[in-house]
Amino acid sequence: MRIVKYPHPMLEYQSKPLMKIDQKIRDVVAEMFDLMYETSGVGLAANQVDLPYQIVVINPTGDREQKEQEHVLINPTILKLKGKSVEDEEGCLSFPGLRMIVPRAVEVKFQAVDLSGNVKTFFWKDFMARIVQHETDHLFGTCFYQRAIASLTNDYEGVLAGMKEQFEEDQKKGLEPTQEQFKEYVAKLESERC
Ligand code: ZN
Repeated sequence: MRIVKYPHPMLEYQSKPLMKIDQKIRDVVAEMFDLMYETSGVGLAANQVDLPYQIVVINPTGDREQKEQEHVLINPTILKLKGKSVEDEEGCLSFPGLRMIVPRAVEVKFQAVDLSGNVKTFFWKDFMARIVQHETDHLFGTCFYQRAIASLTNDYEGVLAGMKEQFEEDQKKGLEPTQEQFKEYVAKLESERC
């Protein structure tokens, strides 16, 4: 498992709901948490690890010892955004080095399925609300820079252009998929569990 970087096509992909939660999915979730802690993140969406599933893992402390702070959200659906929109700094593991100012609703009500298949309703505020909005966006192909109103990184457009150039070079070397290979890969995974 690896974190894909901009402009990998999975980051723009709108994942379909997951229909089957089994041992394979539980293993995926465990691996996502490991990778999130290794990379000092507080949230990770399945798109970011090249999987077209509606899965998000979150731990607002970023500390693997604090297991009670871990959340697994499968097929999350935002029901209501409430309160004022607050502007704050965000980064993303798929955009190393990029820090941007993103407005987010201060409160969010949403539903998600847990690893046992139970549907739960959540009301999160402040930092937690920000994380779940950022991660749920990923599942629907939206990245934080698309919602940002300002950048804390100088010449962010240049940074994105550099990442795009790198990605295209990696495609030529066969390290990243072509559009055709990507489509085949997604179709195969979706036929198994979406
Ligand atoms: Zn992100």
